[in-house]
Amino acid sequence: MKDTLLAAQSVTFAYNGHKTLDAVDVALERGSLVALLGPNGSGKTTLLKILTGILPPRAGAVTWDDQRLAALDRREIARRIALVPQTLNVPFAFTVREIVWLGRTPHIHAWRGETAHDRAAVARALALTGTSAFAERAFGELSGGERQRVVIAMALAQQPQVLLLDEPTTHLDINHQIEILELVRTLNRECGLTVLATMHDLNLAALYFDRLILLRDGQIVARGTPSQVLSPTQVRQVFGAHVLVATHPTRADVPHIVLLPAH
Ligand code: ADP
Ligand code: MG
Repeated sequence: MKDTLLAAQSVTFAYNGHKTLDAVDVALERGSLVALLGPNGSGKTTLLKILTGILPPRAGAVTWDDQRLAALDRREIARRIALVPQTLNVPFAFTVREIVWLGRTPHIHAWRGETAHDRAAVARALALTGTSAFAERAFGELSGGERQRVVIAMALAQQPQVLLLDEPTTHLDINHQIEILELVRTLNRECGLTVLATMHDLNLAALYFDRLILLRDGQIVARGTPSQVLSPTQVRQVFGAHVLVATHPTRADVPHIVLLPAH
C-alpha cells in the first residue's frame, strides 16, 4: 500500500437511489498505467468523478497518499489530479494557448498573478503534446485529434501527478487513437505521470496499458495484466459478446480479441 497515490476504498455510490458503484476498491500506484474497462453504464465515468472528488462516495473513501481526498480543497486536488472528461465544453473562440492557460488556474493566486513558473508550465504542456505549432489558433478550428491533445495539454498545465482520462480515443480515427495513446504512454514512461483511463477498445487497451480493471454493473470483476483480464470467458460474461482471444501478431504478451458474429 505504501506506494499507492490515489485509492478508492470500498466506494459505493448511487444516483437517486440507483446503486452505480458497489464496494469498489482501486489503488493507483505511483507510475502505473491502468485502463478501466466495462460496458456502457457500468460506472466508469462515475468512478473517475469520485476519484477527483467531483462526486462524494456514499460509503467508503477516496484517499490521496493515505490522506482523505475530502480533506483537500478543489485547488489542492487540481494540483494533484487532472481529469480529461469525455466531452469538454471549451469556448471555441479561445486560442489553444488560452485554453491551456486555464489549466494553470489552480496554481495562480489573484494577488500574485502569473509567474515565470506558470509560463514555463504552459510552454511545457504545449511542447509535450505537440500543440505549440498551433498555439495561437482557435480551438474551434482544430481537428478532433488536435483538440484532444489540447485538452490533455490543459490537464498537464495543472502539473498533476495523476492523469485521469475518460475515453480519450473514442471519437478519433485510428491514427489519432494511436497518436493519443502514444502520448499517454510517453507521459507515463518519460514524465512519470500516473495514468488511469477508461477505454472502450479492448485491443488498444491491451496494447498500451500495463494493467486493466474490468467493471460490470458497478463492481470490479477482474484486474491484472491484459492477458489475465481479457480471457474469453470474462469478456463474454462482462460484455455479452462471443470472442476469440488470440495473441497480438507482433507482441507475444498482448492478447488480441477477435469478435465472432452472434449467430
Ligand atoms: P459508464 O461511464 O461506464 O458508461 P456511468 O458512470 O456514466 O457509466 O454510468 C453508470 C450508471 O449511472 C448508468 O446506469 C447511468 O445511467 C447512471 N448515471 C450516470 N450519470 C448519472 C446522473 N448524472 N444521474 C443519474 N444517473 C446517472
Ligand atoms: Mg462513461
